[in-house]
Amino acid sequence: MYDRTFNFSAGPATMPVPVLEEVRDEVLNYRGSGMGVMEMSHRSKVYQTIIDEAEQDLRDLMGIPDNYKVLFIQGGATLQFAMIPMNLMKNGKAVYVETGAWSKKAISEAKKYGEVIVAASSKDKNYSYIPDCSAIDVPEDADYVYICENETIHGTTWQTLPKTNGKPLVSDQSSMFLSKPCNVSDYAMIYAGVQKNVGPAGMVVVIIREDLIRDDLDEKVPTYLSYKTHADAGSMYNTPNCWAIYVCGKVFKYLKSLGGLAAMEKINIEKAKVLYDFLDSSKLFSGTVEKGSRSLMNIPFVTGDKDVDADVVAYTKAAGFENLKGHKSVGGLRASTYNAMPIEGVYALVDCLKKYEAK
Ligand SMILES: *Cc1c(COP(=O)(O)O)cnc(C)c1O
Repeated sequence: MYDRTFNFSAGPATMPVPVLEEVRDEVLNYRGSGMGVMEMSHRSKVYQTIIDEAEQDLRDLMGIPDNYKVLFIQGGATLQFAMIPMNLMKNGKAVYVETGAWSKKAISEAKKYGEVIVAASSKDKNYSYIPDCSAIDVPEDADYVYICENETIHGTTWQTLPKTNGKPLVSDQSSMFLSKPCNVSDYAMIYAGVQKNVGPAGMVVVIIREDLIRDDLDEKVPTYLSYKTHADAGSMYNTPNCWAIYVCGKVFKYLKSLGGLAAMEKINIEKAKVLYDFLDSSKLFSGTVEKGSRSLMNIPFVTGDKDVDADVVAYTKAAGFENLKGHKSVGGLRASTYNAMPIEGVYALVDCLKKYEAK
C-alpha cells in the first residue's frame, strides 16, 4: 500500500508499519495536545507520561527487576564504549571478549581508561564464531566482564554467557535487543543502540543494576557521562531524545500486543531458518558463520567470488530488495532480519536468490 521495499539494512533498519502509521497520525497533534511530540516541552505532563509509559512497557517486556535502572541516553551505543570504563572501572581492570568489529571498538576505547584483558578472541577465523568462555580467566580484581552479545557485522551470537567469576557482566545487545526473552538478572548491565531492532537512531537504552551506579567518580568525568546523572534525573538531566523515546515506546507497546519477547523469538527463529536452510542447501551461496554461533538477526553469506557477490547485490536491488551488501570487512552479502522484517520478506528474498542461482 505504501510501496515499501523489503529493507534488509543492519541499521537504521526497517520498523513496524503499524507503529509508523500511528506516528504519522500523531505528528501534527498528539492526542489533542494541539502540538506534535517534536514540538513539546520535555518537562510537560504529556511528555512525562510518554517517557514513563515507555520505561514501564520495556520493564514489562523484559521483566526488568526493580533493582535495575532503565536509562535513555544519547550518543548511541558508541558513547557507551567510553561510559562503561569511566563509570565501572574502580580497580582500572576489565575483561573483554573479542568477537568482532564492535567488541574491538569497545576494547580500544576501554584501553584509554585502564587495563583491558582480552580473555578470548575469535580473530583467528575472522570472527566467524563465538569462543568457548566457560573457563576463561577472570582476575579477582577485575571490575567487570564485557561482551558484544550479537556481532552485527559478523553475524555471530552468544548461545551461552561467559563465566564471570562473580564479576558484573556487561553486554552490548544493540543488534539483538528485544529479539528474544532475556533474563536480566544474569547481567549487571545491558545496553542497546535502538536503531537496529527498535526505533529511530540517536539513543541508547541502558539497563543497569543500581549497585553499579557510583557517586564517587573522578570529578573530571563530565556530568553527562556519569550514569548517576541520568539515573537521578529520570533520563531528563538535559533535553533527552524525546522523539526516539516516543517512537521506541510505541514499538514496546506493539511488541507487547504481539505476545512479547517469547512470541518474537518464535517468529525470529522461523524467519532465520528460512534463510539458513536455503544457504545450507544452496550450491552457490553459503553462510560465513559456524552453525553453533549463528545470529537470528544478522545473516552474512557469500558465493566465494567477489564479483559474483557484487552481481548478486545488484540483482537483488533490481528485484526490489535493499541493503543486502555485506559490511566491507566481511564482504559478500548480509541480510538483517530484525523483528520488523516480515517473514514474507525472507521468503521473497530466498526466491530471488534461487532464481539467481538457477540462472
Ligand atoms: C551499531 C552498533 C553499535 C554502534 O551503534 P551507534 O548507535 O551507531 O553508536 C554498537 N554495537 C553494536 C553491536 C552495533 O550493532
